[in-house]
Formats: sequence, C-alpha cells, structure tokens
Amino acid sequence: MYYDICIIGAGIVGSLIARQLSKYKVKIAVIERHVDVSMDATGANSGIVHAGYDAKPGTKKAKFNVSGCNMMPGLCDNLSVKFKKTGSFVLAFDQEGEEVLQKLYDSGIKNGVTDMAIVDKDFILQREPYVNPLVTKALYAKNAGIVSPYKLNIAAMDNAVMNGVKFLRETKVTGIEKEDGLFHISTEITGDICSISKLDRIKEEDRTDITAKIVINCAGAHADEISRMAGDDSFNIIPRRGEYILFDKTEGSRINTVLFQTPTEKGKGILVTPTVDGNLMIGPDATVADHKDDKCTNSENLDYVFKTASQTYTRLNIRKSITVFAGIRATPDTSDFIIEESKKCGNFINVAGIESPGLTAAPAIAVYVEDMVKSLMEMKEKAKDQYTMKVKHDKPFSEMTNEEKEAACKSDELCRKIICRCETVSEREIISAIYAPCGARTVDGVKRRTRAGMGRCQGGFCAPHVMRILSEHTGIAVNKIAKADADSCILGRHSRD
Ligand SMILES: Cc1cc2nc3c(=O)[nH]c(=O)nc-3n(C[C@H](O)[C@H](O)[C@H](O)COP(=O)(O)OP(=O)(O)OC[C@H]3O[C@@H](n4cnc5c(N)ncnc54)[C@H](O)[C@@H]3O)c2cc1C
Repeated sequence: MYYDICIIGAGIVGSLIARQLSKYKVKIAVIERHVDVSMDATGANSGIVHAGYDAKPGTKKAKFNVSGCNMMPGLCDNLSVKFKKTGSFVLAFDQEGEEVLQKLYDSGIKNGVTDMAIVDKDFILQREPYVNPLVTKALYAKNAGIVSPYKLNIAAMDNAVMNGVKFLRETKVTGIEKEDGLFHISTEITGDICSISKLDRIKEEDRTDITAKIVINCAGAHADEISRMAGDDSFNIIPRRGEYILFDKTEGSRINTVLFQTPTEKGKGILVTPTVDGNLMIGPDATVADHKDDKCTNSENLDYVFKTASQTYTRLNIRKSITVFAGIRATPDTSDFIIEESKKCGNFINVAGIESPGLTAAPAIAVYVEDMVKSLMEMKEKAKDQYTMKVKHDKPFSEMTNEEKEAACKSDELCRKIICRCETVSEREIISAIYAPCGARTVDGVKRRTRAGMGRCQGGFCAPHVMRILSEHTGIAVNKIAKADADSCILGRHSRD
C-alpha cells in the first residue's frame, strides 16, 4: 500500500503530527507495534504541563516546552480532554535550594515563561497546607497544569482517524529501504487482535507491503533503531525508567498544585501531584533501564519514591495507594530533542529523543513538523467541510448532574448498567469507547478511555464484564480478549459453561 506520509509510532508525538497533517489532501498511515496508542512513554508519565523554566535556554526543549504549554489549554478544549491549570511549586528548604530557585527563575525569563514568582512560606502553606512546614521559599509558575496524557493521545488519534488517517496497529517496523525516492518499509505483524476483530479486519498486505514518500520517525525509545534502519546513526537513545505510586481519590482532594523538589542532574526530582481525574500521584525516580521496554517496578525504588515524596508532602499514607507503574524516558545522547530531516537520508524526519517535557512540547512539535513536511512536499488543504480539528466526547456518566443522569438512563437502558462501580462507568460508555474512531480493543484500552478499572479495586469487579462487552462487540472470542497486547490474554482455558 502506498502512502504519501508514514508516521512510525502512535505516542502523543506521532498522533498529534498525524492529526496536524490530516487536514491536507495526502494519504497518511501511522504504524504502531502495539495494539493501541499510548502504550509506551505517553501512557506512563507524570502528566504535567510544564511551564518551561527548567529547560536550558536556547534549546529546542525550551522553545517547544514554552509554546506547547501555551497551546495546551486550546488543544485540550478542541479535543474535549480535561486540562487543569493547577500552577506548580518548586520547593526550597534551605539557602542552597533557594539559589536553585533563582537560577530556574532566570532561565524561565530567558525561555519566555510568564506568570512566575518566587514566593514565601506563607503563600505556599496557605495554598498547600500539607507541604512540609520546613519549606522556606518556592518558585511558583502559574501556567503549569495537568492533563491525562493517554486521553490526549487517544483523542488526537481519534481526530486523525476521523480525518482519514490510517492507523495500522500491531505492526512493527523492522526495516527501511529507499529506492528511486520511495521508502519501502518492512514490517512484522505483532498480534492478531486487529485481524480477528470484526471492527478492524485490517488486511495483512496493507500492513506488510508499505511504501511512502516521507517517513516521520516518532518511535520514542526505539527512535535510534528506526533511524539506523534509514542509514542515520547520528544519535542513541538511553532508556531511563521512572516509577510511580498512585493513590486513591480520597487523597487527591487535599492537593491543588503540582509540587516539585529542586531538580538534580537526573531530572526534576520526585513530584507530588493531583491528577486530572482526582487521584494523587508521586514519582518518578530515574534509573537506567535494562532494556527499552523494561517497565517493571521494584520495591526498593518505590520505597525511595515514597520516602522522598514524604519529605515535601506530609499527608502521604501508603495504605491509600492503589497501584504502581513505570515509564521509560527516551533520553538522547545529544541532550536535546532531535527534530530535523535526517542529514543522511532525505525525506526522513527524525522526531526523536522526546523525553520530558515532551508531552507539553508535543502540540508545538506537531505544528513545527507540519511546516517541515510542507517544505518537502506540496500539500493542499482539504475543503473546510472535509476535516475537523475538534473531537466531541459525551460527558462521562460519573460527571453528570443527577438530572442529566436521570435523563440519560431514561433514554438509554445501557446507561443504567454500571459496569465499574469504583468509577461509575456505564455499559454505554464502554461500548462508545469500542466504536470510537480509534476504538478500544483490550481491557486496558477500555480502561484508559473510560476509567473502568482505574479505581480502588483496579478492575477486580469490572474486568470480566468489560471482557464480555469487548467480546460481544468486536467478535473476538472471550478467551482471546487481552489485557494489553495480544500476548496478554486473561483467560487461560475454558473451564465450564
Ligand atoms: C517517567 C516519565 C515522566 C514524564 N513526565 C512528563 C511530564 O510530566 N510532562 C511532560 O511534558 N513530559 C513528560 N514525560 C515525557 C513524555 O512522556 C514524552 O516526551 C512523550 O510521551 C513522548 O512521546 P512519543 O510519542 O515521542 O513516545 P512514545 O509515547 O514512547 O511513543 C512511541 C511509540 O513508537 C512505537 N514504536 C517504537 N518502535 C516501533 C517500531 N519498530 N514499529 C512501530 N512502532 C514503534 C512505540 O510502540 C510507541 O507507541 C515523561 C516521561 C517519562 C518516561
């Protein structure tokens, strides 16, 4: 199958680029090795929209961070994704820490960050009463916020697919060759969920025989391998793991602002943050991972995360934790984002080394890459009624007023069937998630779209019901319903009728 543009990787970067380019009259495919979007770094990070004082002035990181932060509220509004402008504190506890705050403030000014101030203890404790009272000062950045990274990623891909982008799931790029100005992309099918699902039935030849004029490498931690396939070995990616502990919603209501410690060589330190969905989260640490997909957690690291976070926030109660997880940072050996047409291979664009603040920067990166592609290929915009840059989602049942709930239940009996009791998710919401443009095909896919399984019992009650609904609507046998990728089927064998 020929495409004008092939994007490799369906994290936030690849998905927002696909959405940005989907307004043009070009044939676009996004190739993703997993069964869903957001299954690597974008699915496991802090979800902070950074103000932009932390990145070194003059770098791409600084430039795209600040403009991405400014774009985020509007983008979230267009994609019906929650964004909360919480503001952030970098907390100092001594003279040395205060000097770091001043340096961060100065680099923020150089980077063009607005609405920043160094504030005193009273201001901090008034806003956040559970911060360690030994705090002396903080850098307050009013424009920082929080977002659900995977919901933003899903909405971006939904939007791209609505505009005609082909999303090739379970398709891993294994080789790239260029001949007569055309890329030939070799792939391997990594699972059978999309070939069995009656909602997809993607033909094998569409995924195995791919040619393209322009390739955009958004493969996260694997971007150096993809670049090497195209003959460009100018950078390496070092995988660095960060581990988190997520707490029950009872804990999330006590905190309003993102709390950072002063940054170190390794990163921004352990943070304490509310999530947009009302939980409390702490993390991440930073350890070099054994391999690029090493997302395991270990008790020693989590213990470190808990102890370090407890130094800034006094109300942490480990008994209120509901899950732990880890994400892999794609740290480049160039120490800055790599966003350029390869010097060794024309029409091959690397968007690589997008470590933190990559989530924040992604909207601005997408616009920048759009301009790069326009300089390589003539693209005409579709007629205004042929595409949209907005996605409308129904209000989650749990967020409806009593009157709205009553009306929804009256008009649709599936709204009355509550599948996830912890998060009050109805059967109708799960079905809608399955039939969305980039629909859920797995238990985790449903979880990320609807929050079924995100609550206190972590799917203990609802997972079998979610599996049944997935099976009924996708036509995938229930014993083939997977948690994440195709090799994670939940049921081992048929035990009784
Ligand atoms: C611990 C941690 C905390 C972070 N916190 C923040 C934060 O608070 N704020 C912020 O702004 N940023 C944060 N970041 C950074 C942010 O998460 C990343 O910059 C962003 O998610 C990168 O998106 P991406 O699309 O480049 O990569 P990814 O989300 O990793 O996506 C890459 C995709 O490429 C696919 N792929 C790889 N190889 C192949 C192949 N051969 N064939 C097909 N597909 C392939 C992968 O499967 C994956 O889906 C954090 C990152 C981590 C790890």
